Amino acid sequence: MEKTLIILKPDAVQRRLLGKIIARFEEKGFQILGMKMTQISESLARKHYAPHEGKDFFEPLIRYTTSAPVVVMALKGKNAIEIVRKMMGATFGSKAEPGTIRGDYAVSNRFNLIHGSDSPASAEKEIGIFFKKEELFEYNLTDIQWVYDMSTGDII
Ligand code: GDP
Ligand code: MG
Repeated sequence: MEKTLIILKPDAVQRRLLGKIIARFEEKGFQILGMKMTQISESLARKHYAPHEGKDFFEPLIRYTTSAPVVVMALKGKNAIEIVRKMMGATFGSKAEPGTIRGDYAVSNRFNLIHGSDSPASAEKEIGIFFKKEELFEYNLTDIQWVYDMSTGDII
């Protein structure tokens, strides 16, 4: 089981798309371990997007990310990182395939609604940046045995 960090960016809040986007992850079968609304500070945004420092879109990206409240979520599921990235679609809304979150709801190459961790290492780092230990919940979902086949001892 993998964990991943999602940010529903300021445009997702402003465009009232939170419910639709969160529903996709719930309906897919992911477990929400933590979720909150917050406004990202400039220093936090710089830390989160440090791998992009120096690129021409870095400063506008920091302004966008900090401009209004966001919703952050920690999700859990088998191969969650890769599956969530597929569900998000390509980075540019203009290029993202229909059926993906960005493909269905975004046209902009910057205002693209959602962030998702891109590797296990960045997921662990990002969850640590955005959530305190007591804001993350380990609990049993009663339908988990119908989300995955667990009858053989593996998670299939
Ligand atoms: P992601 O992992 O798909 O979100 O993409 P990246 O990690 O490469 O970029 C982070 C964010 O910066 C994207 O989600 C966009 O909001 C923005 N961004 C990335 N590349 C560009 C670019 O070439 N131009 C502009 N304007 N924004 C970009
Ligand atoms: Mg990224």
